[in-house]
Amino acid sequence: MSQKYSHFINGTWSEPASGEYFASTNPANLEHLYDVARGGERDVHKAVTAAREAFRSNAWANMSQTKRGKLLRKLGDLITENAEELARSESLDNGKLLREMRGQLASLPDYLYYYAGLADKIQGSQIPTNDLAILNYTQREPLGVVAAITPWNSPLTLTTSKLAPALAAGNTVVIKPSEYTSRTILRFAELASEAGFPDGVVNVVTGYGHEAGNALTEHRDIAKISFTGSTTTGAMIAQKASARFIGTTLELGGKSPNIIFDDANVSNAAMGVIAGIFAAAGQTCIAGSRVFAHRSIYDELLERVSERAQSIKMGDPMDDATELGPLAFDKQLEKVQHYVKLGVSEGATIYSGGDDADVDLPGYFYSPTVLTDVNNDMSVVREEIFGPVAAVMPFDTEDEVVGLANDTEYGLAAGVWTQNLARAHRMSRRLEAGTIWVNTYRAMSPMSPRQGFKNSGVGIEHGLESINEYTKLKSVWINTSEAEVGDPFVMRG
Ligand code: NDP
Repeated sequence: MSQKYSHFINGTWSEPASGEYFASTNPANLEHLYDVARGGERDVHKAVTAAREAFRSNAWANMSQTKRGKLLRKLGDLITENAEELARSESLDNGKLLREMRGQLASLPDYLYYYAGLADKIQGSQIPTNDLAILNYTQREPLGVVAAITPWNSPLTLTTSKLAPALAAGNTVVIKPSEYTSRTILRFAELASEAGFPDGVVNVVTGYGHEAGNALTEHRDIAKISFTGSTTTGAMIAQKASARFIGTTLELGGKSPNIIFDDANVSNAAMGVIAGIFAAAGQTCIAGSRVFAHRSIYDELLERVSERAQSIKMGDPMDDATELGPLAFDKQLEKVQHYVKLGVSEGATIYSGGDDADVDLPGYFYSPTVLTDVNNDMSVVREEIFGPVAAVMPFDTEDEVVGLANDTEYGLAAGVWTQNLARAHRMSRRLEAGTIWVNTYRAMSPMSPRQGFKNSGVGIEHGLESINEYTKLKSVWINTSEAEVGDPFVMRG
Protein backbone atom coordinates (compact mmCIF):
# COMPACT_ATOMS: atom_id res chain seq x y z
CA MET A 1 0.00 0.00 0.00
CA SER A 2 1.51 3.30 -1.01
CA GLN A 3 1.56 6.18 1.41
CA LYS A 4 -1.25 8.73 1.10
CA TYR A 5 -0.90 12.41 1.94
CA SER A 6 -3.90 14.62 2.66
CA HIS A 7 -3.94 18.42 2.88
CA PHE A 8 -2.57 20.07 6.01
CA ILE A 9 -5.18 22.51 7.25
CA ASN A 10 -5.63 24.15 10.63
CA GLY A 11 -2.85 22.14 12.24
CA THR A 12 -4.09 18.73 11.14
CA TRP A 13 -4.42 16.38 8.17
CA SER A 14 -7.50 17.01 6.09
CA GLU A 15 -8.85 14.59 3.50
CA PRO A 16 -9.72 16.10 0.10
CA ALA A 17 -13.40 17.01 -0.27
CA SER A 18 -13.50 15.05 -3.54
CA GLY A 19 -11.92 12.00 -1.92
CA GLU A 20 -9.46 11.89 -4.82
CA TYR A 21 -5.69 11.41 -4.72
CA PHE A 22 -3.10 11.32 -7.51
CA ALA A 23 0.23 9.58 -7.88
CA SER A 24 3.66 11.12 -7.46
CA THR A 25 6.47 9.49 -9.45
CA ASN A 26 10.25 9.30 -9.13
CA PRO A 27 11.58 10.90 -12.36
CA ALA A 28 14.83 8.89 -12.24
CA ASN A 29 13.30 5.40 -12.33
CA LEU A 30 9.58 6.14 -12.87
CA GLU A 31 8.65 4.27 -9.69
CA HIS A 32 5.51 5.26 -7.88
CA LEU A 33 6.42 7.21 -4.73
CA TYR A 34 3.18 8.10 -2.94
CA ASP A 35 -0.32 9.49 -3.50
CA VAL A 36 -1.31 13.03 -2.72
CA ALA A 37 -4.66 14.76 -2.25
CA ARG A 38 -6.24 16.37 -5.30
CA GLY A 39 -7.40 19.69 -3.89
CA GLY A 40 -10.23 21.82 -5.22
CA GLU A 41 -12.35 24.82 -4.34
CA ARG A 42 -13.79 23.32 -1.16
CA ASP A 43 -10.36 22.40 0.24
CA VAL A 44 -9.02 25.83 -0.62
CA HIS A 45 -11.99 27.48 1.07
CA LYS A 46 -11.43 25.40 4.17
CA ALA A 47 -7.73 26.33 4.28
CA VAL A 48 -8.29 30.04 3.62
CA THR A 49 -11.01 30.16 6.27
CA ALA A 50 -8.67 28.52 8.79
CA ALA A 51 -5.91 30.97 7.85
CA ARG A 52 -8.24 33.96 8.12
CA GLU A 53 -9.47 32.89 11.55
CA ALA A 54 -5.91 32.24 12.70
CA PHE A 55 -4.92 35.71 11.47
CA ARG A 56 -7.52 37.27 13.75
CA SER A 57 -7.01 34.91 16.65
CA ASN A 58 -5.49 36.04 19.93
CA ALA A 59 -2.93 33.27 19.66
CA TRP A 60 -1.39 34.80 16.52
CA ALA A 61 -2.57 38.43 16.29
CA ASN A 62 -1.51 39.17 19.86
CA MET A 63 1.71 37.25 19.76
CA SER A 64 4.73 39.49 20.34
CA GLN A 65 7.05 40.06 17.41
CA THR A 66 9.97 38.53 19.30
CA LYS A 67 7.92 35.41 19.99
CA ARG A 68 7.13 35.13 16.25
CA GLY A 69 10.85 35.30 15.63
CA LYS A 70 11.48 32.56 18.18
CA LEU A 71 9.00 30.28 16.42
CA LEU A 72 10.79 30.83 13.10
CA ARG A 73 14.08 30.05 14.82
CA LYS A 74 12.63 26.87 16.29
CA LEU A 75 11.34 25.88 12.86
CA GLY A 76 14.87 26.40 11.49
CA ASP A 77 16.22 24.07 14.18
CA LEU A 78 13.62 21.43 13.32
CA ILE A 79 14.55 21.68 9.63
CA THR A 80 18.17 20.99 10.60
CA GLU A 81 17.12 17.97 12.67
CA ASN A 82 15.14 16.60 9.74
CA ALA A 83 17.43 17.77 6.94
CA GLU A 84 18.47 14.36 5.66
CA GLU A 85 14.89 13.10 5.39
CA LEU A 86 13.79 16.31 3.64
CA ALA A 87 16.74 16.31 1.22
CA ARG A 88 16.11 12.68 0.25
CA SER A 89 12.45 13.34 -0.20
CA GLU A 90 13.04 16.35 -2.48
CA SER A 91 15.59 14.44 -4.52
CA LEU A 92 13.17 11.54 -5.02
CA ASP A 93 10.42 13.95 -6.02
CA ASN A 94 12.21 16.16 -8.55
CA GLY A 95 15.31 14.19 -9.55
CA LYS A 96 17.78 16.81 -8.38
CA LEU A 97 21.03 15.51 -6.95
CA LEU A 98 20.83 14.41 -3.34
CA ARG A 99 24.13 16.30 -2.88
CA GLU A 100 22.50 19.51 -4.09
CA MET A 101 19.37 19.03 -1.98
CA ARG A 102 21.53 18.35 1.07
CA GLY A 103 23.30 21.64 0.35
CA GLN A 104 19.99 23.47 0.04
CA LEU A 105 18.67 21.95 3.26
CA ALA A 106 21.87 22.91 5.08
CA SER A 107 21.34 26.59 4.22
CA LEU A 108 17.54 26.60 4.48
CA PRO A 109 17.46 27.31 8.25
CA ASP A 110 19.46 30.50 7.57
CA TYR A 111 16.45 31.89 5.71
CA LEU A 112 14.29 31.26 8.77
CA TYR A 113 16.91 32.66 11.17
CA TYR A 114 17.39 35.77 9.04
CA TYR A 115 13.68 36.62 9.10
CA ALA A 116 13.39 35.50 12.72
CA GLY A 117 15.85 38.31 13.49
CA LEU A 118 13.80 40.79 11.48
CA ALA A 119 10.43 39.93 13.05
CA ASP A 120 10.86 42.52 15.84
CA LYS A 121 12.53 45.12 13.64
CA ILE A 122 9.60 45.88 11.37
CA GLN A 123 8.93 49.50 12.14
CA GLY A 124 7.39 52.69 10.86
CA SER A 125 8.63 56.21 11.35
CA GLN A 126 7.54 59.54 12.70
CA ILE A 127 6.83 62.08 9.97
CA PRO A 128 7.20 65.87 10.32
CA THR A 129 4.12 67.58 8.84
CA ASN A 130 4.89 71.26 9.59
CA ASP A 131 2.10 71.26 12.21
CA LEU A 132 3.70 70.91 15.61
CA ALA A 133 0.38 69.93 17.16
CA ILE A 134 0.13 66.87 14.95
CA LEU A 135 1.91 63.64 15.71
CA ASN A 136 2.03 61.67 12.47
CA TYR A 137 3.57 58.24 12.39
CA THR A 138 3.50 55.21 10.17
CA GLN A 139 3.22 51.59 11.17
CA ARG A 140 3.62 48.44 9.16
CA GLU A 141 0.87 45.87 9.58
CA PRO A 142 0.54 42.33 8.23
CA LEU A 143 -1.65 41.88 5.16
CA GLY A 144 -3.75 38.89 6.21
CA VAL A 145 -3.85 35.55 4.41
CA VAL A 146 -1.00 35.18 1.92
CA ALA A 147 -1.30 32.60 -0.88
CA ALA A 148 2.06 31.02 -1.74
CA ILE A 149 2.12 29.13 -5.05
CA THR A 150 5.43 27.43 -5.51
CA PRO A 151 7.27 25.30 -8.11
CA TRP A 152 9.00 21.93 -8.18
CA ASN A 153 12.61 22.83 -8.90
CA SER A 154 13.67 23.87 -5.37
CA PRO A 155 10.46 23.32 -3.45
CA LEU A 156 11.46 24.02 0.14
CA THR A 157 13.91 26.84 -0.60
CA LEU A 158 11.51 28.70 -2.86
CA THR A 159 8.61 28.19 -0.44
CA THR A 160 10.69 29.35 2.54
CA SER A 161 11.72 32.49 0.62
CA LYS A 162 8.05 33.47 0.81
CA LEU A 163 6.99 32.00 4.13
CA ALA A 164 9.82 33.30 6.29
CA PRO A 165 9.15 37.01 5.63
CA ALA A 166 5.36 36.51 5.46
CA LEU A 167 5.25 34.83 8.88
CA ALA A 168 7.82 37.18 10.42
CA ALA A 169 5.52 40.06 9.44
CA GLY A 170 2.52 38.40 11.12
CA ASN A 171 0.60 37.00 8.17
CA THR A 172 -0.90 33.54 7.86
CA VAL A 173 -0.35 31.44 4.74
CA VAL A 174 -1.94 28.90 2.46
CA ILE A 175 0.58 27.10 0.25
CA LYS A 176 -0.21 25.33 -3.01
CA PRO A 177 2.97 23.39 -3.84
CA SER A 178 3.72 22.01 -7.27
CA GLU A 179 1.81 18.82 -8.02
CA TYR A 180 5.24 17.15 -8.51
CA THR A 181 6.72 18.04 -5.12
CA SER A 182 4.06 18.08 -2.41
CA ARG A 183 5.57 15.90 0.26
CA THR A 184 8.30 18.10 1.73
CA ILE A 185 5.99 21.11 1.82
CA LEU A 186 3.47 19.09 3.83
CA ARG A 187 6.27 18.02 6.14
CA PHE A 188 7.34 21.66 6.46
CA ALA A 189 3.83 22.59 7.63
CA GLU A 190 3.87 19.72 10.09
CA LEU A 191 7.21 20.94 11.47
CA ALA A 192 5.82 24.48 11.74
CA SER A 193 3.07 23.05 13.91
CA GLU A 194 5.63 21.20 16.00
CA ALA A 195 7.63 24.41 16.37
CA GLY A 196 4.59 26.02 17.98
CA PHE A 197 2.95 28.05 15.22
CA PRO A 198 -0.75 28.20 16.15
CA ASP A 199 -3.17 26.07 14.14
CA GLY A 200 -4.20 27.69 10.88
CA VAL A 201 -1.09 29.87 10.51
CA VAL A 202 0.56 27.52 7.98
CA ASN A 203 -1.75 25.51 5.70
CA VAL A 204 -1.07 23.41 2.62
CA VAL A 205 -3.54 22.45 -0.09
CA THR A 206 -2.02 20.07 -2.62
CA GLY A 207 -3.28 19.45 -6.13
CA TYR A 208 -3.12 20.68 -9.69
CA GLY A 209 -2.42 24.25 -10.71
CA HIS A 210 -5.59 24.67 -12.74
CA GLU A 211 -7.72 23.33 -9.87
CA ALA A 212 -6.31 24.01 -6.38
CA GLY A 213 -3.95 26.75 -7.63
CA ASN A 214 -6.66 28.50 -9.56
CA ALA A 215 -9.15 28.30 -6.68
CA LEU A 216 -6.56 29.81 -4.35
CA THR A 217 -5.80 32.75 -6.63
CA GLU A 218 -9.54 33.44 -6.95
CA HIS A 219 -10.44 33.19 -3.27
CA ARG A 220 -11.88 36.50 -2.04
CA ASP A 221 -10.16 36.35 1.35
CA ILE A 222 -6.60 36.20 0.00
CA ALA A 223 -4.69 39.42 0.71
CA LYS A 224 -1.68 38.72 -1.49
CA ILE A 225 -0.33 36.14 -3.92
CA SER A 226 3.33 35.25 -3.83
CA PHE A 227 4.23 33.06 -6.80
CA THR A 228 7.29 31.43 -8.34
CA GLY A 229 6.97 29.68 -11.67
CA SER A 230 6.51 30.33 -15.35
CA THR A 231 5.96 33.77 -16.83
CA THR A 232 2.73 32.57 -18.46
CA THR A 233 1.13 31.46 -15.18
CA GLY A 234 2.56 34.54 -13.45
CA ALA A 235 0.90 36.85 -15.97
CA MET A 236 -2.45 35.15 -15.42
CA ILE A 237 -2.10 35.46 -11.66
CA ALA A 238 -1.11 39.14 -11.95
CA GLN A 239 -4.27 39.85 -13.95
CA LYS A 240 -6.52 38.16 -11.41
CA ALA A 241 -4.80 39.90 -8.51
CA SER A 242 -4.97 43.33 -10.09
CA ALA A 243 -8.71 42.93 -10.75
CA ARG A 244 -9.14 42.56 -6.98
CA PHE A 245 -6.48 45.18 -6.13
CA ILE A 246 -4.36 42.76 -4.16
CA GLY A 247 -0.59 42.70 -4.34
CA THR A 248 1.71 40.10 -5.85
CA THR A 249 5.32 39.05 -5.60
CA LEU A 250 6.16 37.18 -8.79
CA GLU A 251 9.43 35.36 -9.40
CA LEU A 252 9.26 34.22 -13.00
CA GLY A 253 11.34 32.90 -15.85
CA GLY A 254 14.68 33.95 -17.22
CA LYS A 255 17.04 33.68 -20.17
CA SER A 256 20.12 34.93 -18.44
CA PRO A 257 23.31 35.93 -20.28
CA ASN A 258 26.69 34.70 -19.08
CA ILE A 259 29.31 36.97 -20.69
CA ILE A 260 33.00 36.10 -20.96
CA PHE A 261 35.41 38.87 -21.93
CA ASP A 262 38.83 38.36 -23.48
CA ASP A 263 40.55 39.37 -20.22
CA ALA A 264 38.71 36.74 -18.16
CA ASN A 265 40.22 33.71 -16.50
CA VAL A 266 38.81 31.35 -19.13
CA SER A 267 39.13 28.24 -17.02
CA ASN A 268 37.10 29.80 -14.19
CA ALA A 269 34.62 31.21 -16.67
CA ALA A 270 34.09 27.75 -18.22
CA MET A 271 33.31 26.38 -14.76
CA GLY A 272 30.88 29.26 -14.24
CA VAL A 273 29.18 28.53 -17.55
CA ILE A 274 28.82 24.86 -16.66
CA ALA A 275 27.48 25.64 -13.18
CA GLY A 276 25.16 28.22 -14.69
CA ILE A 277 23.46 25.97 -17.21
CA PHE A 278 24.09 22.32 -16.33
CA ALA A 279 23.68 22.35 -12.55
CA ALA A 280 20.20 21.14 -11.64
CA ALA A 281 19.92 20.06 -15.30
CA GLY A 282 19.30 23.69 -16.19
CA GLN A 283 16.01 23.67 -14.31
CA THR A 284 16.54 26.94 -12.50
CA CYS A 285 15.09 30.33 -13.24
CA ILE A 286 18.59 31.83 -13.07
CA ALA A 287 20.12 29.40 -15.58
CA GLY A 288 22.84 31.07 -17.66
CA SER A 289 21.37 29.76 -20.88
CA ARG A 290 22.83 32.40 -23.24
CA VAL A 291 26.61 32.30 -23.28
CA PHE A 292 28.42 35.19 -24.98
CA ALA A 293 32.16 34.64 -25.42
CA HIS A 294 34.57 37.22 -26.82
CA ARG A 295 35.65 36.08 -30.27
CA SER A 296 39.33 35.84 -29.24
CA ILE A 297 38.58 33.23 -26.54
CA TYR A 298 35.40 31.77 -28.10
CA ASP A 299 37.02 28.54 -29.38
CA GLU A 300 38.86 27.91 -26.14
CA LEU A 301 35.77 28.47 -24.02
CA LEU A 302 33.57 26.35 -26.27
CA GLU A 303 36.07 23.52 -26.14
CA ARG A 304 36.40 23.63 -22.37
CA VAL A 305 32.64 23.78 -21.80
CA SER A 306 31.74 21.06 -24.24
CA GLU A 307 34.55 18.76 -23.12
CA ARG A 308 33.41 18.99 -19.51
CA ALA A 309 29.76 18.70 -20.56
CA GLN A 310 30.51 15.41 -22.28
CA SER A 311 32.25 14.03 -19.20
CA ILE A 312 29.42 14.96 -16.81
CA LYS A 313 28.37 11.80 -15.02
CA MET A 314 24.64 11.26 -15.39
CA GLY A 315 22.61 8.80 -13.39
CA ASP A 316 20.80 8.18 -10.14
CA PRO A 317 20.49 11.48 -8.25
CA MET A 318 20.83 9.58 -4.96
CA ASP A 319 24.33 8.40 -5.92
CA ASP A 320 27.07 10.72 -4.64
CA ALA A 321 29.11 10.23 -7.82
CA THR A 322 26.30 11.50 -10.07
CA GLU A 323 26.69 15.03 -11.44
CA LEU A 324 23.47 15.32 -13.43
CA GLY A 325 20.11 13.74 -12.71
CA PRO A 326 16.98 13.49 -14.82
CA LEU A 327 14.57 16.24 -15.73
CA ALA A 328 11.76 16.52 -13.24
CA PHE A 329 8.89 15.04 -15.25
CA ASP A 330 7.84 13.92 -18.73
CA LYS A 331 6.71 17.34 -19.99
CA GLN A 332 10.06 18.84 -19.02
CA LEU A 333 11.87 16.24 -21.12
CA GLU A 334 9.48 16.77 -24.05
CA LYS A 335 10.01 20.52 -23.80
CA VAL A 336 13.80 20.20 -23.97
CA GLN A 337 13.63 17.72 -26.87
CA HIS A 338 11.24 20.05 -28.69
CA TYR A 339 13.49 23.10 -28.30
CA VAL A 340 16.66 21.36 -29.44
CA LYS A 341 14.85 20.09 -32.56
CA LEU A 342 13.41 23.54 -33.15
CA GLY A 343 16.86 25.09 -32.75
CA VAL A 344 18.32 22.77 -35.37
CA SER A 345 15.45 23.50 -37.75
CA GLU A 346 16.18 27.22 -37.31
CA GLY A 347 19.87 26.71 -38.19
CA ALA A 348 21.59 25.86 -34.88
CA THR A 349 24.35 23.26 -34.72
CA ILE A 350 24.48 20.71 -31.91
CA TYR A 351 28.11 21.08 -30.87
CA SER A 352 27.77 18.41 -28.18
CA GLY A 353 24.97 16.48 -26.46
CA GLY A 354 21.53 16.86 -27.96
CA ASP A 355 20.16 13.44 -27.17
CA ASP A 356 18.43 11.39 -24.54
CA ALA A 357 21.38 10.40 -22.42
CA ASP A 358 22.69 6.87 -22.23
CA VAL A 359 21.72 6.11 -18.64
CA ASP A 360 20.88 2.74 -17.19
CA LEU A 361 17.61 4.00 -15.74
CA PRO A 362 14.26 4.52 -17.43
CA GLY A 363 13.85 8.13 -16.23
CA TYR A 364 13.68 11.51 -17.99
CA PHE A 365 17.37 11.98 -18.76
CA TYR A 366 18.72 14.42 -21.36
CA SER A 367 22.39 15.00 -22.04
CA PRO A 368 24.02 18.37 -21.40
CA THR A 369 23.82 20.16 -24.73
CA VAL A 370 25.85 22.92 -26.33
CA LEU A 371 24.36 24.72 -29.32
CA THR A 372 26.38 26.93 -31.67
CA ASP A 373 25.49 28.89 -34.83
CA VAL A 374 22.73 30.52 -32.85
CA ASN A 375 21.57 34.13 -32.77
CA ASN A 376 19.05 36.38 -31.06
CA ASP A 377 16.35 35.67 -33.64
CA MET A 378 16.10 31.99 -32.74
CA SER A 379 13.61 30.47 -30.29
CA VAL A 380 16.39 28.64 -28.41
CA VAL A 381 17.94 32.02 -27.62
CA ARG A 382 14.74 33.94 -26.96
CA GLU A 383 12.63 31.44 -24.99
CA GLU A 384 13.19 29.78 -21.64
CA ILE A 385 13.99 26.07 -22.18
CA PHE A 386 14.46 25.20 -18.50
CA GLY A 387 16.81 22.37 -19.34
CA PRO A 388 20.53 21.63 -19.83
CA VAL A 389 20.90 23.53 -23.10
CA ALA A 390 23.48 26.30 -23.58
CA ALA A 391 23.42 28.57 -26.63
CA VAL A 392 26.98 29.83 -27.18
CA MET A 393 27.63 32.94 -29.28
CA PRO A 394 30.72 35.04 -30.10
CA PHE A 395 30.93 38.84 -29.77
CA ASP A 396 33.51 41.50 -30.59
CA THR A 397 32.88 44.60 -28.49
CA GLU A 398 31.43 45.55 -25.12
CA ASP A 399 28.72 47.72 -26.67
CA GLU A 400 27.72 44.87 -28.96
CA VAL A 401 27.41 42.34 -26.15
CA VAL A 402 25.43 44.76 -23.96
CA GLY A 403 22.97 45.16 -26.83
CA LEU A 404 22.75 41.40 -27.41
CA ALA A 405 22.45 40.53 -23.71
CA ASN A 406 19.71 43.11 -23.09
CA ASP A 407 17.76 42.11 -26.20
CA THR A 408 15.42 39.80 -24.28
CA GLU A 409 12.03 39.96 -22.62
CA TYR A 410 13.62 38.62 -19.41
CA GLY A 411 15.81 40.28 -16.78
CA LEU A 412 16.43 37.93 -13.89
CA ALA A 413 20.22 37.56 -13.72
CA ALA A 414 23.45 38.01 -15.67
CA GLY A 415 27.03 36.80 -15.33
CA VAL A 416 30.14 38.75 -16.31
CA TRP A 417 33.66 37.29 -16.44
CA THR A 418 36.43 39.87 -16.57
CA GLN A 419 39.51 40.93 -14.63
CA ASN A 420 38.97 44.57 -15.52
CA LEU A 421 37.48 46.29 -12.48
CA ALA A 422 36.13 49.27 -14.38
CA ARG A 423 34.44 46.98 -16.89
CA ALA A 424 32.93 44.90 -14.08
CA HIS A 425 31.22 47.98 -12.62
CA ARG A 426 30.27 49.34 -16.03
CA MET A 427 28.67 46.08 -17.08
CA SER A 428 26.84 45.76 -13.76
CA ARG A 429 25.24 49.13 -14.46
CA ARG A 430 24.47 48.50 -18.12
CA LEU A 431 22.95 45.02 -17.91
CA GLU A 432 19.18 44.94 -17.46
CA ALA A 433 18.83 42.25 -14.80
CA GLY A 434 17.97 42.16 -11.11
CA THR A 435 21.06 40.15 -10.12
CA ILE A 436 24.55 40.59 -11.59
CA TRP A 437 27.32 38.13 -10.82
CA VAL A 438 30.91 39.07 -11.64
CA ASN A 439 33.42 36.18 -11.77
CA THR A 440 30.88 33.89 -10.09
CA TYR A 441 27.45 32.47 -10.90
CA ARG A 442 24.44 31.18 -8.90
CA ALA A 443 25.62 32.81 -5.64
CA MET A 444 22.67 33.43 -3.32
CA SER A 445 21.93 34.45 0.25
CA PRO A 446 18.77 35.15 2.23
CA MET A 447 20.39 38.48 3.08
CA SER A 448 20.66 39.70 -0.49
CA PRO A 449 17.52 40.99 -2.22
CA ARG A 450 16.62 39.72 -5.65
CA GLN A 451 14.16 41.02 -8.11
CA GLY A 452 13.30 40.16 -11.67
CA PHE A 453 13.43 43.00 -14.19
CA LYS A 454 11.16 43.05 -17.25
CA ASN A 455 9.09 39.84 -17.62
CA SER A 456 11.12 38.05 -14.94
CA GLY A 457 8.96 39.28 -12.13
CA VAL A 458 7.53 41.84 -9.78
CA GLY A 459 8.55 42.52 -6.20
CA ILE A 460 11.52 41.53 -4.10
CA GLU A 461 12.48 38.25 -2.50
CA HIS A 462 15.15 37.89 0.20
CA GLY A 463 16.91 40.66 2.08
CA LEU A 464 15.55 43.43 4.27
CA GLU A 465 13.35 44.75 1.48
CA SER A 466 11.33 41.59 1.08
CA ILE A 467 9.67 41.82 4.48
CA ASN A 468 7.88 45.01 3.46
CA GLU A 469 6.29 43.05 0.61
CA TYR A 470 4.24 41.32 3.29
CA THR A 471 3.11 44.45 5.15
CA LYS A 472 0.84 47.40 4.50
CA LEU A 473 1.75 50.87 5.60
CA LYS A 474 -0.66 52.82 7.80
CA SER A 475 -0.34 56.53 8.49
CA VAL A 476 -1.69 57.63 11.89
CA TRP A 477 -2.49 61.31 12.63
CA ILE A 478 -2.93 62.41 16.24
CA ASN A 479 -3.91 65.91 17.15
CA THR A 480 -2.09 66.72 20.38
CA SER A 481 -3.62 70.20 20.66
CA GLU A 482 -6.32 71.04 23.20
CA ALA A 483 -7.38 74.04 21.08
CA GLU A 484 -10.91 74.37 19.82
CA VAL A 485 -11.40 72.89 16.33
CA GLY A 486 -11.84 75.76 13.86
CA ASP A 487 -13.59 76.14 10.53
CA PRO A 488 -14.41 72.56 9.35
CA PHE A 489 -14.39 73.65 5.69
CA VAL A 490 -10.75 74.63 5.63
CA MET A 491 -8.30 71.83 5.27
CA ARG A 492 -5.70 71.97 7.97
CA GLY A 493 -2.13 71.94 6.75
P1 NDP B 1 3.93 26.71 -13.62
O1 NDP B 1 4.13 28.17 -13.65
O2 NDP B 1 2.79 26.18 -14.35
O3 NDP B 1 3.85 26.18 -12.11
C1 NDP B 1 4.28 26.84 -10.95
C2 NDP B 1 3.23 26.69 -9.86
O4 NDP B 1 2.01 27.30 -10.29
C3 NDP B 1 2.88 25.23 -9.55
O5 NDP B 1 2.53 25.10 -8.20
C4 NDP B 1 1.67 25.02 -10.43
O6 NDP B 1 0.89 23.92 -10.05
C5 NDP B 1 0.96 26.34 -10.24
N1 NDP B 1 -0.03 26.65 -11.27
C6 NDP B 1 -0.09 26.19 -12.55
N2 NDP B 1 -1.16 26.69 -13.18
C7 NDP B 1 -1.82 27.47 -12.29
C8 NDP B 1 -3.01 28.26 -12.32
N3 NDP B 1 -3.76 28.32 -13.43
N4 NDP B 1 -3.37 28.95 -11.24
C9 NDP B 1 -2.63 28.89 -10.11
N5 NDP B 1 -1.51 28.15 -10.00
C10 NDP B 1 -1.09 27.46 -11.08
O7 NDP B 1 5.25 26.01 -14.13
P2 NDP B 1 5.44 24.47 -14.49
O8 NDP B 1 5.72 23.74 -13.25
O9 NDP B 1 4.33 23.96 -15.34
O10 NDP B 1 6.73 24.57 -15.37
C11 NDP B 1 6.62 25.08 -16.69
C12 NDP B 1 7.75 26.03 -17.00
O11 NDP B 1 7.73 27.13 -16.07
C13 NDP B 1 9.13 25.46 -16.84
O12 NDP B 1 9.52 24.71 -17.93
C14 NDP B 1 9.92 26.71 -16.65
O13 NDP B 1 10.15 27.31 -17.89
C15 NDP B 1 9.03 27.61 -15.83
N6 NDP B 1 9.30 27.53 -14.37
C16 NDP B 1 10.03 28.51 -13.79
C17 NDP B 1 10.35 28.43 -12.46
C18 NDP B 1 11.15 29.48 -11.79
O14 NDP B 1 11.86 29.17 -10.84
N7 NDP B 1 11.04 30.74 -12.19
C19 NDP B 1 9.95 27.31 -11.64
C20 NDP B 1 9.13 26.34 -12.32
C21 NDP B 1 8.85 26.48 -13.63
P3 NDP B 1 1.14 22.51 -10.80
O15 NDP B 1 2.52 22.09 -10.47
O16 NDP B 1 0.13 21.63 -10.24
O17 NDP B 1 0.95 22.78 -12.28
